[in-house]
Amino acid sequence: MFVNAENIHHIVIASTEHPVDFEQFKKFIQKSPFVRRVAFIGKAIFDLPEFPEMVKFCALNNIYLIFGEVGETSTENLRALVEYKNVILINIYEDKHNVQLLNQYKQEFNSDLPDINIIVTVKHSPQDEISPTSYAFYNLADDITDIACLKLLNEPMLNYNGELLGCWQNPDKKHPINAFNLGMEKAFSSASIKKMLNMLKTGKICKSCPCTRCPVFASLVWTNQKIDVYKRVFNDD
Ligand code: SF4
Repeated sequence: MFVNAENIHHIVIASTEHPVDFEQFKKFIQKSPFVRRVAFIGKAIFDLPEFPEMVKFCALNNIYLIFGEVGETSTENLRALVEYKNVILINIYEDKHNVQLLNQYKQEFNSDLPDINIIVTVKHSPQDEISPTSYAFYNLADDITDIACLKLLNEPMLNYNGELLGCWQNPDKKHPINAFNLGMEKAFSSASIKKMLNMLKTGKICKSCPCTRCPVFASLVWTNQKIDVYKRVFNDD
């Protein structure tokens, strides 16, 4: 199976513990001309010393950005979220001052972007923790039109250091393929991605694949389903 990386325009970068290395990130973007949108998950990306520079670099390369979690951060970083007009959406914790500031910048730069979604923190009681939804795990493959495996090709996830996780459910800690070093094309022609796609398509276990250890795959097996990710994402008959 040949995965054409030219078809993959959106990626997600997990930045829950560390920000990306800016120099590595720049090289990756230059090696991956088909990437058009990067979504950062996690607050640590705001610890990147060159954050405003990174947003500007993406704007100059026609790349839109999404930030899944804006926490405490500097006014320079908040300003960069508006100034280059390439940040389309942010989720931000309830902080009236920061939201006010962002709206001021939007006026100053005459921009409708970014869309600001306020994260309301809800405290869960211990009772909530054992609600029936805790068992949703068993139904992970109920709707395979909206399953995490599809993200492998329509919005693959990389770790902050460039390691190719594929999808956000990947349970493995070590990932041999580094997309920052290789660029999208080489990373996606790697054997490990092909093995994941093949395992989902055939249902045959491949021990080296993270899917082997993933509850979504277990759920697919229990519900007697297989999924041709390539066909579903690219509608390729
Ligand atoms: S089965 Fe594989 S591709 Fe699907 S969610 Fe799990 S790790 Fe990801």
